[in-house]
Amino acid sequence: MSRTYAVFFLAVCFLLMPLKSESSAETEVFFSSVSLVRGDLILITIKADILEKPQIIWRKKEIPLIYSQANASWRGFIAADLKQKPGVYKVVVQLPSSGFEKEFYIRVNDRDYGVRKLNLDPKKVELDAEALNRVKNEAAIVNKLWTADCQLPLWDDRFLMPVDKKIVGTFGRRSIINKRKRAPHTGVDISGKLGDPVKAIHNGTVMLVADHFFTGNSLYLDHGGCIISMYFHLDKILVKDGDQIEKGQIIGLVGATGRVTGPHLHWGVRINGARVNPLTLIELSRELDG
Ligand SMILES: [Zn+2]
Repeated sequence: MSRTYAVFFLAVCFLLMPLKSESSAETEVFFSSVSLVRGDLILITIKADILEKPQIIWRKKEIPLIYSQANASWRGFIAADLKQKPGVYKVVVQLPSSGFEKEFYIRVNDRDYGVRKLNLDPKKVELDAEALNRVKNEAAIVNKLWTADCQLPLWDDRFLMPVDKKIVGTFGRRSIINKRKRAPHTGVDISGKLGDPVKAIHNGTVMLVADHFFTGNSLYLDHGGCIISMYFHLDKILVKDGDQIEKGQIIGLVGATGRVTGPHLHWGVRINGARVNPLTLIELSRELDG
């Protein structure tokens, strides 16, 4: 070994040793994007050992994470509700085992999702006292689902489309029904014929099967990790409350029940309670494979 090389080698050893003992300071955190629009999500990746489960806090809630052996990293989704106020929000990443803690700032931008104009049966829009009461009771049942405790994630790879057909109604549009402003569209509408099979987008547990005024035959699946998917206007539901469902399993048939203009699937996703574009979940979840 030449003298120069030996000095260099010693210097490298000297530099490496303290770094190794402070490996927590080297924890790498990646975001699929540093900004998102309201109603959308991003993927967070933390390179850390399986035994060093990080804690990610976003808007006072802990983000559920899954571990990827192949990538030696923890991953989870950060979601902004469709009605989240644009602004800059903090994400705190902590590794309790090593004392690592870092704050990141994510910008939530506004977005104009456009407008949808619908003409519907006035009886389904201007509700009488009986219908109004029914809608209120149904909303109370559904709202309880968003505050239920998060279960362990049942997913560790990509999510599937529930029906492989054209999107005929995009997410987030403001609604003008019979010329009056109504709630925005919180899912996507997929074209389908009466009786077309609808697949579960991932493994899950049936949270609720119901026949509701607006959404017709409705199915809510809990995928764990605070991800809930919902399937509306079904003609038939082929599963029942509490059933364990496998990714790709046929859970119902496309229909035209509830307030609709024709057969289609309305498909929605909530992440940590936030109403998000399901198509972004499909796209980002591809990163979970492998
Ligand atoms: Zn819809």
